[in-house]
Amino acid sequence: MPELPEVEAARRLLTPAMKDARFERVLLRRANLRRAFPPDFTARLTDATVLDVERRAKYLRLPLSTGEVLVMHLGMSGDFRVERPGEDDRVPPGLHDHVVFEMSSGAIVTFTDPRRFGSMDLLARGDDGPDALRTLGPEPLSDDFDTEALARACAGRKAPLKAALLDQRVVAGLGNIYVVEALHRAGLSPRRRASTIATPRGAPRPTARALVAAIKAVLTTAVARQLQPTYRDARFRVYDRAGEPCPKAGCDGTIRRIVQAGRSTFYCPTCQR
Ligand SMILES: [Zn+2]
Repeated sequence: MPELPEVEAARRLLTPAMKDARFERVLLRRANLRRAFPPDFTARLTDATVLDVERRAKYLRLPLSTGEVLVMHLGMSGDFRVERPGEDDRVPPGLHDHVVFEMSSGAIVTFTDPRRFGSMDLLARGDDGPDALRTLGPEPLSDDFDTEALARACAGRKAPLKAALLDQRVVAGLGNIYVVEALHRAGLSPRRRASTIATPRGAPRPTARALVAAIKAVLTTAVARQLQPTYRDARFRVYDRAGEPCPKAGCDGTIRRIVQAGRSTFYCPTCQR
C-alpha cells in the first residue's frame, strides 16, 4: 500500500511532466475508480494548465488554471507511469491503465491501479478536500515538523508512543511501516508512553530530538529508494523481520513482533527503550 514516500516519489515523477503543462487530451478507460469520476471530468481538464504539483499527506493536489484543483489518491495499488513518445520502450496500455493524460510537455502520464481503490476528484480552489485533510498535523519532511512541535503534541499523552505517531493530527501521513522503522532508528520502544519524550510543560527531551531526526531520515531514504527502481524492493530494517538479529551495530537483540491497536509492530527490546 503506498505510504508517504511512494506518494512523494510520485509527486517528484509528475512535476517535470505536468507542471506548467496543459492537458491536451484526457482518456478515461473506465467510468470509475474507487468511485465515479467527477461529471465532465475530461472536458474540465482539457486545455487547463497545471500550476503546480503538490502533496498533502497521501494526496496529490494539482491546482489548475481553471480555478479547480485535481486531487488524486493512489489508494491501495495506484501508480503513475510517465513516457515521452518516441521512446522505444513505450509500454502499450495495460488492463489496469485506467487514465491517460497527454500533456503539452510531450509527456504521457498513465495512472494504473489494479485494485481500483484510488481516486481522482476536481475541487474548487480553497476547498481542502476530505475532512481528514483539515485536521492533519505538520508534514514530516517540512520545517513545521520539528522537535518542539512533536514534544508539544506528545506532552501529557498516555498512549503508547507508536499510537501517537500514527495519529494523523500529530504528524501527517506517517504509516505503520515508517513509524516502526523510525522508532528502531531512534532507539525508542514503541510501548513507552508518548508523554515521556516531553517534559510535563511540553518542552522536548533529547528523545524527541532523536525521534524527529529518525523520522526525517527514514522518510528521506525511502523517497530516494522509490526514485531508484532497482532499490524499490529493498526490505525494511526491522519491519516484517521478527526473529531476525537486530541490524543495529553492536546490538545482540532479536527483532520481536507485537500487536498494538490491531497493527503489527516490530522492534528490538534490547536497544529500543
Ligand atoms: Zn537492537
